[in-house]
Amino acid sequence: MAKRGSTEDEKKSSQLSALLRLVRLVRPYRGRFYFASVFLLLGSVVSLAYPQVARYAIDLGMREGDTDAFNNVLTYLFAIFACHAVFVWFRHYLMSWLGIRAVADLRSLVFDRIMLLPIAWFHDRRSGELVGRLAADVAVIEEVIGSQLSMAVRNVVQLIGGVALLLVVDWKLTMVMLAIIPPFSVAAVFFGGKLRKRSKVVQDKLAEASGRVQEAIAAIDTVQAFGRERDEASAYRLDVEAAFQSGLRLVKWRASFMSSVSVLTYAALAVILALGGRSVIAGELTAGELTAFLIYTGMVASSFGTVASLYGSLSRAAGATERLYDVVDEVPEIRDPEDPQDLPEGQGAVHFESIDFHYASRPDDAVLRGVDIKLEVGQVVALVGPSGAGKTTIASLLPRFYDVQGGQVTLEGVDVRRLRLGDLRGAIAVVAQEPVLFSGTIRDNIAYSDQSLSQAQVERAAVDANAHVFIQSFPEGYGTKVGERGVKLSGGQKQRIAIARAIVADPRVLILDEATSNLDSESEAAVQQALAKLMKGRTTLVIAHRLSTVRDADRICVVEGGATTAQGTHQELMNSSATYRRLVEHQLLEPA
Ligand code: ADP
Repeated sequence: MAKRGSTEDEKKSSQLSALLRLVRLVRPYRGRFYFASVFLLLGSVVSLAYPQVARYAIDLGMREGDTDAFNNVLTYLFAIFACHAVFVWFRHYLMSWLGIRAVADLRSLVFDRIMLLPIAWFHDRRSGELVGRLAADVAVIEEVIGSQLSMAVRNVVQLIGGVALLLVVDWKLTMVMLAIIPPFSVAAVFFGGKLRKRSKVVQDKLAEASGRVQEAIAAIDTVQAFGRERDEASAYRLDVEAAFQSGLRLVKWRASFMSSVSVLTYAALAVILALGGRSVIAGELTAGELTAFLIYTGMVASSFGTVASLYGSLSRAAGATERLYDVVDEVPEIRDPEDPQDLPEGQGAVHFESIDFHYASRPDDAVLRGVDIKLEVGQVVALVGPSGAGKTTIASLLPRFYDVQGGQVTLEGVDVRRLRLGDLRGAIAVVAQEPVLFSGTIRDNIAYSDQSLSQAQVERAAVDANAHVFIQSFPEGYGTKVGERGVKLSGGQKQRIAIARAIVADPRVLILDEATSNLDSESEAAVQQALAKLMKGRTTLVIAHRLSTVRDADRICVVEGGATTAQGTHQELMNSSATYRRLVEHQLLEPA
């Protein structure tokens, strides 16, 4: 029992600190916040004045038949309406401004941090679900900061002010009225817990559904090729249906909560009408006072109901904030060292020294064991071996997509973990097997590493990459838009643009993952030529799939089961390595 109490407390305190972090988001704009609060208070005070106006209208105007007084009261009423309208406008505008502003900041903050997280972090998560959840969490927070927080404050003011004024009118009747508060609180706590639990279930179901959408859309060609459109759609329908069902359960609880609040409110009004009516008949209370009392009671009860239900929203927002800040607070395991070393001058000397490595997600599965590969300046070193041997993994250790567990990777003789990430990655360019182009123009894609490049520089790179001619043949030239993944371009064209992008980055070391897909021979020749230009004067690590590439390489490393089993030139390996011979003879290396 004690244990449960303490975890409950911990939960409460972490919720509180999450909400405090939300408040901190608003801090830079506190001037506006104070301003908004003033309007909020003024608005609440004015709305508390309504019942008083009603009271005077009834007591002075109607009962005593004083027409002048009655007209005066109506004038006041009109003035109050007008003031209230102005206050509400400013309150709403300023508070919403804060909400939208803070959430815009939060969105950027979260994305800034996500971009810095190591590749392995993304492997653990389904990207669609991640994106969907972030969007949903941010939306919850937006609603809370933008409207519910101010609603909560407004209702608390109205609650306290209302009770105070009730006490002034008739303290005994007030005590009767306050008797409804305990059942109210019980209902609020009971329903609050249910609502929170239910709404979390709804969020989870929606996140699952949006994960599926993202995945299906990203792989639409595979979906259609296998004729799975209807199956994906019906799986999505099931997800959505599940979300609908849990949404309904949430709504049922909410409806029960609202109807309990309404029953309690009207019961209180009835009791007060009964008791207060007797007081009026006995002459202890005027009709106007009773009217004001009834209106205040309605206000107090509805404020209480609102505050209670907002408690649920606040803790939902706390949950959303915690999840977002889990991402924001994540300290990237791969980051700049405390006291970084400058990258020495050099031309790309790389050494993988006795590397042991396993992926964090599979700690028992050693992917690399004692790999030792040295790339002298300007050399081309080819990695060959069966698929799954660890070639891609080796290549991804140099830009520190992952850190090794044993041994070290050095660039210009310095352990890559001692260098600033910016320096390290600035010295390396990667040309992937299936290059990804970003949506935007061809120019943007070539100048990806440095958008400030001049058109002439971009064109020079494109000429070297054998891409200039085909780019010029498009009506819009370098301004041609490429789709989300460059769908309008052929494989060979995309590759050449990716090569131009690498030329622009002017790296010391090049990591090349050779395309396995068959290009037509003309494209193939153009790509090979472009690559040859790109590789000139740089150190190159190539994951090779072609015989021509390995023949030209200065050295070939045969990778098998996470270890380098042989190194040498083509001729040497043909004589010394059975695996290599097998790769060549069974055409696992494409003869082209
Ligand atoms: P290759 O490039 O030679 O085909 P990889 O380097 O891609 O081989 O893979 C080597 C081994 O590491 C394989 O067993 C593969 O399943 C595993 N592996 C690759 N990437 C990951 C990852 N992100 N998480 C866990 N295991 C991985």
